[in-house]
Amino acid sequence: MMNKRVTLLLLLLLFCLLSSSSTLAQLKVVTTMTDLQSITSMIGGDKVDVFAIATGFQNPHFVDPKPSYIMKLSRADVFVTVGLDLEIGWVLPLLNSARNSKIQKGGDGYVDASINVPLLQVPTSASRAQGDIHIYGNPHYWLDPLNGKVIARNIFDALVRADPDRRSFYEANLMKFNETIDAKAREWTEKLRPYSGTKIIAYHNEWPYFEQRFGLQIVDFLEPKPGIPPTPSQLFKVINEMKRDHIKIIIISPYFTAESADMVARNAGGKVVTLATSVGANEQIKTYYDLFDYNVSQLFEALR
Ligand SMILES: [Zn+2]
Repeated sequence: MMNKRVTLLLLLLLFCLLSSSSTLAQLKVVTTMTDLQSITSMIGGDKVDVFAIATGFQNPHFVDPKPSYIMKLSRADVFVTVGLDLEIGWVLPLLNSARNSKIQKGGDGYVDASINVPLLQVPTSASRAQGDIHIYGNPHYWLDPLNGKVIARNIFDALVRADPDRRSFYEANLMKFNETIDAKAREWTEKLRPYSGTKIIAYHNEWPYFEQRFGLQIVDFLEPKPGIPPTPSQLFKVINEMKRDHIKIIIISPYFTAESADMVARNAGGKVVTLATSVGANEQIKTYYDLFDYNVSQLFEALR
């Protein structure tokens, strides 16, 4: 009789433990961008519920901090940010309003994805005096797929801190992600290799990592400084450079109006190519891998 009661109690206890662990089953992750969301999903699998604040067709420098994001952040276990000064105007106010100590800078759930990324274009002195919005180095580092592996490692570390029991699961996914990136990066670089050294113009200075990985040379920008809209004198300078150096391609992102790029292309005899800077930039780009599949094939078609 006593034994039966003990067994029943034990079963009840076990049931409570199981049901409470299943409510904790999914880690709640909020990322600033869709690229970080995609990588987090690949490492976390079905053990994470990941929400991205910015869409893939939005300029990540300028995002409206909406109250619904604060709600998500207040309940998050992990928060992942690109860092540097990419989201400087909107991440801090959101984190301050969310009042969630887990995901504040320095908290176990706070992930600065730029840690250990070899940064490019780090200025010797950080100054916003001329309106520059890349003052800690170029923040568009996720556009080199091999930096994706560094980002994945940073995310992995935070998932393990939040959920150490599932370490081996996350580790297996991380290894699979790294292998896939390595294999695909070889294909992508191979495809663009014949065009190595090709000079290109870009709207915003967001391609140095992509350019370095794939051997392109972005020689000038329609923006006179990152974050400063194109000026007539800058566009005139670019038209002359394109004519002089026989540059045929201007790359822009979905969130810039094509007007100035079209005007320059008309005057210099080049063409405008819209590339994706993030997952979700268009319907075809559903994962971090798709982002490079798309950009590499768009460029390949344009260069051919
Ligand atoms: Zn930028």
